[in-house]
Amino acid sequence: MRPAERIGRLGVEGAFDVLSRARALEAKGKHIIHLEIGEPDFPTPVHIVEAGKKALDDGYTHYGPTMGLPEVRQAIAENVASTRGIAVDPGQVCVTPGANPALFYAMLATLEKGDEVLLPDPGFPIYASLVRYVEAIPVAVPLVESRQFSFDLNFIADHLTPRTKMVILNSPHNPTGGVMPSDDVRELARLLADRDIIVISDEIYRTIFFGDEAPLSISSLPGMAEKTIIIDGFSKSHAMTGWRLGYGIYPSWLTDAVSKLVVNSNSCTASFVQMAGLAAINGPQDECVRMVGEFRRRRDTFVSQLTGIPGFSCTVPLGAFYAYTQVAAGGIGSKDLEGKLLSEAGVACLAGDAFGSNGSGHLRFSMANSLDNLELAVSRIAGFMTSR
Ligand code: PMP
Repeated sequence: MRPAERIGRLGVEGAFDVLSRARALEAKGKHIIHLEIGEPDFPTPVHIVEAGKKALDDGYTHYGPTMGLPEVRQAIAENVASTRGIAVDPGQVCVTPGANPALFYAMLATLEKGDEVLLPDPGFPIYASLVRYVEAIPVAVPLVESRQFSFDLNFIADHLTPRTKMVILNSPHNPTGGVMPSDDVRELARLLADRDIIVISDEIYRTIFFGDEAPLSISSLPGMAEKTIIIDGFSKSHAMTGWRLGYGIYPSWLTDAVSKLVVNSNSCTASFVQMAGLAAINGPQDECVRMVGEFRRRRDTFVSQLTGIPGFSCTVPLGAFYAYTQVAAGGIGSKDLEGKLLSEAGVACLAGDAFGSNGSGHLRFSMANSLDNLELAVSRIAGFMTSR
């Protein structure tokens, strides 16, 4: 007995793998500083939790409509329309249990065997995993560190073929924390203008940026909204990873297909969770703004201390909460270093290899931990590096 062949094409998220190894060491009494997992360490804002509890009391405990509760779809449509400056019909919104299913539906609904998909390398590993799963072909686009890890647009221009079906954009970006410069987003839109190519714009870190300019959504540019699928959600912006609440904004020609996929998989997203999401959209945002301020403070301290370690260099990230660090560790590869930092220094982080072949030689540190712990992590890493 064995699983279907297609399962062999699915990848995994390295962060969960390191987390389980870290937990095993903790169970044996070792103290670990967790800088591997990409989830805000802040509690979900109280008014959101209260709205979730009230929804339970009010009986939001039954099936809801496939694509989401009407008032929630309406609120999401208005929010996305105003933040991106585009028209969004509530009918385009599909509410999902986290952003990941919205991504999955986007690919299942559009890609055919042999279609080529341009995606960032390094990038969120689930992109290439899902592309392979549906028998499409991931085309790894190198990133340009000096331009905030933007796409190498020359590479894209050279690799647009009649088989190119999709481009996946993620800004602010996991794992680099890069925010694609607006000029590059415009240039990419220009390259795609006359082609039937779908863009997935994964904007899950949209609200977490530290520059003067908010990240530009490619959907805002002329002619792009019709071809763009926006992926977003509440996991990162509102510290709601465990609630599982996200959404996709799909062009209207795709919504029936997506609806079928939802019916055939999760049926709908938990109703009381959606009501908590409604409070997240309509309620005060000051907690979220405070979290971003805290991420910025951590970034300033952590990146400057980390790059004080000989062999460690890191472009200061303008968004998300990751420090993507190039490491020259005298012959130890990044994967080995990940293992040694965990078992010997008690610091859990992720080797860049988990994000694609261009990630080799890098470590990703998630700054979703207290400043005290981040500082302790730097001193442990420094101690480990000098003791070798
Ligand atoms: N996209 C990116 C780039 C992510 O980093 C993550 C989570 N790590 C997701 C999507 C998935 O988000 P969710 O937890 O809401 O499914």
